[in-house]
Amino acid sequence: MESLQLELEKEKKSVLEMMSDMEHEQVVFCHDKHTGLKAIIAIHNTVLGPALGGTRMWNYQNESEALNDVLRLSRGMSYKAAISGLNLGGGKAVIIGDSYTGKSEALFRRFGRFVDSLGGKYITAEDVGISPQDMEYVHMETNHVSGLPISMGGSGDPSPVTAYGVYVGMKACSNYTWGNDSLAGKKVLVQGIGHVGEFLVGHLVKEGAKVIVTDINEARMKAVVEKYNVDAVIGDEVYDLDMDIYAPCALGATVNSNTIDRLKCKIIAGAANNQLENEELHGMMVKDRGIVYAPDFLINAGGLISVNSEVYKLSAERSMEMTEKIYDGVLNILNLSEEKNIPTSQAALELAKSRIDIVSKVKSGR
Ligand code: NAD
Repeated sequence: MESLQLELEKEKKSVLEMMSDMEHEQVVFCHDKHTGLKAIIAIHNTVLGPALGGTRMWNYQNESEALNDVLRLSRGMSYKAAISGLNLGGGKAVIIGDSYTGKSEALFRRFGRFVDSLGGKYITAEDVGISPQDMEYVHMETNHVSGLPISMGGSGDPSPVTAYGVYVGMKACSNYTWGNDSLAGKKVLVQGIGHVGEFLVGHLVKEGAKVIVTDINEARMKAVVEKYNVDAVIGDEVYDLDMDIYAPCALGATVNSNTIDRLKCKIIAGAANNQLENEELHGMMVKDRGIVYAPDFLINAGGLISVNSEVYKLSAERSMEMTEKIYDGVLNILNLSEEKNIPTSQAALELAKSRIDIVSKVKSGR
């Protein structure tokens, strides 16, 4: 996905050409003089259901950077929903502005009006730079908001569900690699012990894994080390560590040309989005090194499954049952990748696209 983004930037394609290349249905540019709102809503695909994806507020350097981001992220949401068996499409929104200084009630309410004007074709949620308070303002103008706090009738924090999905997906990788599910005694590096990372540490410690944590936030690391009695490391040398499993739960692009050759693990399974810096190149490099990689958009889908339960009024128990299926999903992709001799990331993408194609044919009666 990264490489396509760079290609598009280089070639300076028109918006419609970019939409055509990435197969987007609709892109909405939103502007309001009074509030200073500048936003883009991208709807990638609604074959499976309404396009769902968060709104990100970011100080983009220019409009084309914002457009690239929203196109790439919305497409990723289509594939995440598709591979997880959800009846949701892929969408995303970006608000161009400084999330520290550029916020106001009026700005978010105006944005909410734009979301509402799409009549439910796009459902928004929180993403980077957006707080629950901001979403409350959006929600004042539209019902097409998800991931709300439990106190507002929503599904609440998706992080525990995401962490559970990563945990079961990791067990599937273990089964594939070592012939059994157990993570007891396995050395697992959890990189990033924020919302998801900490819940994941909890599951791993309970099962008897040897957990090592790393985070750039020292206070957070100290708290987690004390609470769970785990080891900690800091700095770039984390990639050289002797470990069985690497769980990236911080930022994306940590699996790249600089790190892959250094990794001694047998499995990469974590929550972070876009773990492979370049999907094609690094997907292949990981495969060639004999490392089992659980595709990020499959293993971290618990959060989306949680939000899906809010959209379709399902119980929290049902969310957990659906998240449990990430185990089978990961195992299936690992086997498929072996059968076809292709990287797991490619196998996952092909499967996601084929579900969208099949459902499209079902709906059109072709
Ligand atoms: P978070 O912000 O709560 O936690 C991220 C943690 O990573 C923080 O503690 C931060 O200090 C740490 N960190 C940042 N840069 C680091 C670095 N270079 N090295 C080590 N640690 C670093 O985020 P989160 O909600 O726990 O999400 C973690 C990742 O999972 C993100 O990539 C997110 O996009 C992805 N994700 C989250 C969810 C969810 O339900 N929250 C769902 C799907 C995907």
